[in-house]
Amino acid sequence: MLTNDQIIRYSRHILLPEMGGKGQEKLLSSKVLLIGAGGLGSPVALYLAAAGVGTLGIVDGDHVDLSNLQRQVIHATPDIGRLKVDSARETIAQINPDVRVVTYPEYITATNIGGILSEYDLVVDGCDNFATRYLVSDAAVIYKKPYVYGSILRLDGQAAVFNPPQGPCYRCIFPEAPPPGAVPSCQEAGVLGVLPGLLGVIQATEALKMLLGIGEPLIGRLLLVDALYMEFTEAKVARNKNCPVCGENPTITELRDENYRQETCNTELDETEEEK
Ligand SMILES: [Zn+2]
Repeated sequence: MLTNDQIIRYSRHILLPEMGGKGQEKLLSSKVLLIGAGGLGSPVALYLAAAGVGTLGIVDGDHVDLSNLQRQVIHATPDIGRLKVDSARETIAQINPDVRVVTYPEYITATNIGGILSEYDLVVDGCDNFATRYLVSDAAVIYKKPYVYGSILRLDGQAAVFNPPQGPCYRCIFPEAPPPGAVPSCQEAGVLGVLPGLLGVIQATEALKMLLGIGEPLIGRLLLVDALYMEFTEAKVARNKNCPVCGENPTITELRDENYRQETCNTELDETEEEK
């Protein structure tokens, strides 16, 4: 049951026929895991918290750096040097005391992801390296959790929802990580500060739709965003029956850290750019 304050706080949701009070109660009992409290993680966390998603788990072992503040809007200048999960938790508490924030001041690994992910209904990816992305994607398939994907670089972004057997997984579309150095990181190539806001809000929208079971999620559709020309295009993406993780005869059935080693082309990446 919603309290009187909650009826006022969420009144614009309750007015929506797709949501109503029942939908809001559903959100308040939902649990979402965010990988990274950086560029994408910031808007996702801010909007899911404001929307009243009852539990937000945030995994990030990194500290707030001055160079993050151009886009990581959940953190502020006085937070420089603090753990991102602590800064994010404080901001969320100010926005909505209904939200329980569970912080994991560590990096996600093949060893810890199962225990963390199994506590949640859905995972939103805000990471900025291929090793973590493949790990989160494979874990989402193995633990049967919907995976809301987003990525950004320079002035371009992508988003999708992976929830096999409904539609493909990330690995169906991109079977292997590109060789180290083939794709630069945001740290190397830059990113427009608002771009993670744009993509993160798309991810937050998809997460809410999945939690509520409404609308048509970005399943089987890869959304491509070109911010410079403000063009949104969609690529139809299909499941690969030979996919090593969600296919008919999967070869990836357990997670091992040695299969998700960080690209070593840029050693700084390991320490400072776990997420955007
Ligand atoms: Zn697959």
